[in-house]
Parts: sequence; structure tokens; C-alpha cells
Amino acid sequence: MTILDYTQDELKEFIKPAFRVKQIYKWIYQNYADTYEQMHTIPKTLREELEKNYSLMPLSVAKEEQSSDGSIKYLFALHDGKTIESVLLPMKQEEFDEDGKRIHHTRYTICISSQVGCKIGCSFCLTAKSGLLRNLSTGEIVAQVLLIKKLNGIDSERRVNIVYMGMGEPLDNLNNVSKAVKIFSDIDGLSISPKRQTISTSGLSSQIKKLGNMNLGVLLAISLHAVDDELREELMPINKHYDIRSIMNAVREFPIDVRKRVMFEYLIMKDVNDDIKSAKKLVKLLHGIKSKVNLIYFNPHEGSPYNRPPKSSVEKFRDYLNAHGVTCTIRQSKGLDISAACGQLKERSEK
Ligand code: SF4
Repeated sequence: MTILDYTQDELKEFIKPAFRVKQIYKWIYQNYADTYEQMHTIPKTLREELEKNYSLMPLSVAKEEQSSDGSIKYLFALHDGKTIESVLLPMKQEEFDEDGKRIHHTRYTICISSQVGCKIGCSFCLTAKSGLLRNLSTGEIVAQVLLIKKLNGIDSERRVNIVYMGMGEPLDNLNNVSKAVKIFSDIDGLSISPKRQTISTSGLSSQIKKLGNMNLGVLLAISLHAVDDELREELMPINKHYDIRSIMNAVREFPIDVRKRVMFEYLIMKDVNDDIKSAKKLVKLLHGIKSKVNLIYFNPHEGSPYNRPPKSSVEKFRDYLNAHGVTCTIRQSKGLDISAACGQLKERSEK
């Protein structure tokens, strides 16, 4: 059991008086306490009681790889010996003016896992090979961000973005993920607003509706990757159950902040989905949806039947979309040299 599993309201049920909970939250999420003993404003008896029953950190670092672009990929070990991965991505480097005064801090995005393994079975993904081993608990999801901030000395006031885009399908573990969203956004804790949290899904339409009904205020990203059902079924067998039309219908109903857009991830592969015909279909498909398309170069791994497309075809694809009213960017290959495509670090370390 970890104390990171609990919202403040839940802790108040068994920690009295209630104001202690706020203090404990601040010790954990803002002062990054490593032990209960360090929480010197909390009475000793309560500290001992908590120590006996709740761990402060359910993860430990099993492996860490730094990429030349500054991203760091972590393999974290869980209490049962299973492992998950998370990535810290610096999005914008800090900048200084002529007098050496800092104008911008480095901005970070933290990519986290929601399950050990995954049952969705995407053909381009190494995580899919292991199948689903188990869901992560809320605390194990929360711990990934807390530990990465702590390990990298990112102080508590610094805002980070979270993407649920590591191992697993977050909407297949909706209860624990939605609770993690709430814990992340607690202002006495990590204080990461839901607007800075993006849930990325393979397109489980019924779960997208459920998430929408929860009105959490999170952003949505859809791993689309193909514009017709035939190809999408080949890439993502889940498309047999949730086809493109059902996904688009669920997205159209999803409550999203007026200033925000739904992100569509498009893993672009040579001679598979990188042609202008696909770009045209994509424009048609997204008609009427406030969307942004993110093109991701396919990152080839051993034994993969797909290849990385040439820069020229990816740029043509992007330009076509932008010229036809769909905002489109090419995602920089952060972490390319440490194989940051889903599941690859884990696979390599197990070999
Ligand atoms: S790409 Fe994501 S949803 Fe698909 S199998 Fe891999 S982890 Fe699961």
C-alpha cells in the first residue's frame, strides 16, 4: 500500500485531525520528503503509524538512459518486480538575457505508463507483445511524475505537462487514471492542472464517452495512424471493435476547452500511410473537429516490417494538411537514440 493512492478527501477518513492531511500532502508532493521521519511538523505517533502501513514511494529506478537531445527514459521497478517505463522530455531549453537573467525555464513534459503491458495489440508496438500483465494502481501512476521531478531536481512550483502515452491503454484503466488526474491537480500537491494532462488513447470509443462524462477537463489525444479501417485494423486490431467512425463520433461529443484541440497522433510509415491520398482522406475525416495532427516518424525496431519515411514525404504530408485548414506539426524525434518508441527500452533491458 502506498499513500500516493489517496486523494486528500480519502486520507481525511483515517487521518485526524483533517488539517494534518494538507501538511502531509505538502511534505510529499512539494517538499519531496523521502521518509516520514523528515515530516517534523507531523506528530511522531502519526508518522510511525503511517510508516507502518503506507510506503511513500512504490517505484525504484531499474535503469535510466539519457538521450543526446536531453530526454531521459526510465525503467521503473514495481513492488512485484514488474517494470514500466516513463520518459522526461525537455520541451524548451532555458533562456537568459544579456545580463544573465533567466527569461524562460526549461519546460518539461513527462510521459507516463498506465498499465504493465497492454492488451490492445498494436502491430508496431513492442509493449503489445507481452499482453496485459496488470493495471497500475493510482499510486504507481502518480509516483512516476513525483519521482521524475524529484530525481531531476525540478522544484515543486515548476509546471510540467503530463501525457498518458507510455505503456498501456489509459482508458482500459480508467478508474485509476481518473483518480491520478485528480491527485496530480491538487493545489496542495503537484498542482498540475487537468489542462496540462493529455490522455492518449488507441480509440476505445465507449471509454472516451465515459471519460467525457466525467468532465475532468483533461485533453484528449487519439492514436489514429490510418485513415481507412482496413489499414487501421492491420496496424491496430482494436479497430475491429472500435472503427474510425465510432471514434470520430465519440470525439465530436467530447467536452474540450474552447481554446484547446483534440490531438490526433499519426505514426507515419514509409509507403504505408505517408502519401497525399491519405493526407486528403485525413482532412475529410477531421472536418468540423477542432483538431491538431501530430506526425510521428516511425521509429524502426528489430524485426519490424515498417520503415521510417523520408523527410520529404513527411513534410509534403504536413504541408498538405496545413494548406487545407488542419494544423499539423511533425513531432521532433525526442529520445530517438534511446529507442523511445513505446516498449523498446523495456524490451532491450530484458534481453
Ligand atoms: S501502442 Fe499503446 S495502445 Fe498500442 S499496444 Fe502499444 S501500449 Fe498498447
